[in-house]
Amino acid sequence: MHVQALARKVTSKSQVRCSFGSSKDNHSRSGIDDVNGFVTPPSYGTFVIVQISPDSKLFDALRFLLGDRARAGDFELSLYGKDGSVLQGRPSIVCLPVDTEEVRQIVAVCRQHERPFLARGSGTGLAGGAVPVGDPVIIATAKMNKIIEVDLENRIAWVEPGVLNLDLTKELTPLGFHFAPDPSSQQVCSIGGNVANNSGGPHCLAYGVTSAHVAAIEVVLPDGSVTVLGDLSADPPGYDLKKLGVVHQIH
Ligand SMILES: Cc1cc2nc3c(=O)[nH]c(=O)nc-3n(C[C@H](O)[C@H](O)[C@H](O)COP(=O)(O)OP(=O)(O)OC[C@H]3O[C@@H](n4cnc5c(N)ncnc54)[C@H](O)[C@@H]3O)c2cc1C
Repeated sequence: MHVQALARKVTSKSQVRCSFGSSKDNHSRSGIDDVNGFVTPPSYGTFVIVQISPDSKLFDALRFLLGDRARAGDFELSLYGKDGSVLQGRPSIVCLPVDTEEVRQIVAVCRQHERPFLARGSGTGLAGGAVPVGDPVIIATAKMNKIIEVDLENRIAWVEPGVLNLDLTKELTPLGFHFAPDPSSQQVCSIGGNVANNSGGPHCLAYGVTSAHVAAIEVVLPDGSVTVLGDLSADPPGYDLKKLGVVHQIH
């Protein structure tokens, strides 16, 4: 129990502490001068490196799934602890999926381990939406950055959520089109983030904000199932549920 408790503390601070045997030895850490004047280290019990953490099984499962695209290094945990706001948190693990199936499996693993998860695009949000609270697993869409298809006839582009806003317009400009929502952060913000935040910019005064330009989204629901919200018709019937879930394909 002691090791578990200590491990929990270590994990939350993301440090691995080394301790010498029993804590009762702590009072006698100073060396003892031998006859030659050298300091002989006192003998302690087993040298223990505390590595067990409540997240280790979860991390193992995500590593099995994603290889080195599941990360828990200090650099990543610190980087993904912030967005464009003044807030700061710390995730437990950062995942970089490349497709829908991987997102689905990450969500399923989190659910199995009863851990929260949080989608993240480029981390430019100003409201702290991508700041982790309560050690969640971050699902970062940076590697889901393909423009899958451009259907000019129907004026529909099929994109993954990590596509950068301006990259879509760059792709469309030679064809005589553009993606109207243009937040000032458009060089770096993701379309998944635009959808989640319903972002806008100067063009939106004429053409409407992001929600006016999203026909359908494929989402992973918290139970790990995948569904499509919306469709390609101009005015689909029923509730407009497109802003729920982890977006991972946008049409
Ligand atoms: C310099 C600067 C200028 C800006 N200018 C504007 C502006 O003109 N107009 C404007 O509206 N905003 C602006 N913003 C805010 C920000 O850029 C936008 O809100 C942008 O849409 C966020 O996209 P992101 O990829 O960075 O999202 P993130 O910051 O990564 O995430 C934002 C929110 O979206 C969620 N999210 C991200 N991806 C997904 C996904 N795939 N599925 C589900 N949820 C997801 C996150 O959980 C989080 O809650 C600006 C920000 C900066 C730093």
